[in-house]
Amino acid sequence: MPARTGQGYIDALNNSSRDVQIQGERVEKGVADHPAFRNVVRTYGQLFDMQHDPDLRDTMTYESPSSGDRVGMSFLQPESIGDLERRRTMIKTWSDFSLGQLGRTGDYLNSSVMAMASAADWFGQVDKQFADNIRNYYEYIRENDLLLTHTLINPQSNRSKPPSEQSDPFLAAGIVEENDEGIVIRGARMLATIGPIADEIMVFPSTVLQNRPEDEPYSYAFAIPCDTPGLRFLCRESFDYGRSHYDHPLGSRFDEIDAVAIFDDVLVPYERCFMIRHPELLTRGRLYNETDALVHMTHQVVVKDLAKTEFVLGLISTIADAIKIEQFQHIQEKIGEIIIALETLKSFLRTAEVDAEINDWGVMTPKWAPLNAARNWFPKQYPQFIDTIWKMSASGLFGLPTEADATGDAREDVDKYLACASMDGVDRVKLFRLAWDASVSSFGGRQEVYEHYFFGDPVRMAGLLVATYDRSDYMNRIKEFLQRDN
Ligand SMILES: Cc1cc2nc3c(=O)[nH]c(=O)nc-3n(C[C@H](O)[C@H](O)[C@H](O)COP(=O)(O)OP(=O)(O)OC[C@H]3O[C@@H](n4cnc5c(N)ncnc54)[C@H](O)[C@@H]3O)c2cc1C
Repeated sequence: MPARTGQGYIDALNNSSRDVQIQGERVEKGVADHPAFRNVVRTYGQLFDMQHDPDLRDTMTYESPSSGDRVGMSFLQPESIGDLERRRTMIKTWSDFSLGQLGRTGDYLNSSVMAMASAADWFGQVDKQFADNIRNYYEYIRENDLLLTHTLINPQSNRSKPPSEQSDPFLAAGIVEENDEGIVIRGARMLATIGPIADEIMVFPSTVLQNRPEDEPYSYAFAIPCDTPGLRFLCRESFDYGRSHYDHPLGSRFDEIDAVAIFDDVLVPYERCFMIRHPELLTRGRLYNETDALVHMTHQVVVKDLAKTEFVLGLISTIADAIKIEQFQHIQEKIGEIIIALETLKSFLRTAEVDAEINDWGVMTPKWAPLNAARNWFPKQYPQFIDTIWKMSASGLFGLPTEADATGDAREDVDKYLACASMDGVDRVKLFRLAWDASVSSFGGRQEVYEHYFFGDPVRMAGLLVATYDRSDYMNRIKEFLQRDN
């Protein structure tokens, strides 16, 4: 089947009967039309439709090696640096559409499954069936253009103890039974962003999984449809408050709902399992590292970071021009910092692509060191971006009537008192509402936390960076220097 249309995605969601709990309501049917989800679902629909825009067809899709249909470019198994560039161009096109505000567009997890399927023999080292399962799964989601969520983290009950020693050993989702058909999962996982509006959920090992006999029940990797019986999503409140695009320009379009995934004895058929037990293989992120799924996901993430940085640079530059503050030196310094961040990201990305190599599985794989640096660096930059929006916008973030005022009874006041050097009052308020939604609103607050945590705990990511970065040459240079004769 060729790449999906937006309507195809919306119809599939509405035809699915799933278990979603939100703001005191249980939603089973028609999730695509529920007020909490309808706008972000339409946005995702627009992304799917871009695959059918004649001008974007070659950017967004390629010819499937099995069906010959045009399928999404993020499924492409890259064989050359040119292929990596094609993947990046597609990812950037989707990221720009949301100003980098969407983190869970299909390309994020398609990149992961693409890498895992290419490294299918890694799964096959335990059982050939697992290798076949991941290959078949990749082909299935590619040919049906399915949207995936994933969930890796155990509930935050008591972080000083492993899952087996919590008050209930099935607080963290674990294998409670194995039968002729598959494994049965009981317990919960945090968080599944877009879970309620995705087609499928990947439930993969936490990177903090230990390799001890008692960790076996928590050692598995599988994927199932989001409407599988027994699976339910417990959502946070929606940050799409049903307001206009003028009032909440980002929240009314891009609120990717987060949800706890709860498994009430969910049967996972064997053909959807990619690993069962074997904590020695699933511990400490081995799966993501040894298949290079982490590298391809990070490539997608850094492209999204680039789009987000370009958005912030565009926003603060427009604000500076609107209220004519660019002549002040500290404003120039702030804008300069974002320019440097943008150029730094471009360099990380370009170096990773130019220095890419074919990996052990025959896949052209970006260089890890610059991408690893980027994923450790960006979470520290993003709060600075928010700080810059505040510092430049000041009271403009709160002298903000709503659309009903700006275009209604208060229009005269808005035009007189809220116009600025380069815009009339209505447009100036619209611009500052965008700055507010990016940096102050619930939507903006979530973006800041998301950037800090979504790709892992920065503290532990830094630990991993240090532990795996070869510094021996530099240490030897110090040794050699200390031993040099005067
Ligand atoms: C908005 C948002 C969306 C997300 N979406 C997804 C998603 O779709 N799928 C998914 O799988 N995950 C998702 N996550 C989860 C994300 O992967 C985790 O937040 C991240 O890995 C940190 O884990 P945690 O939240 O359990 O924090 P915790 O591990 O509970 O950490 C809390 C604090 O304690 C410290 N701490 C805890 N344990 C240790 C330790 N062993 N060593 C050092 N410090 C420690 C941490 O540094 C941190 O300061 C999302 C998170 C956010 C915020």
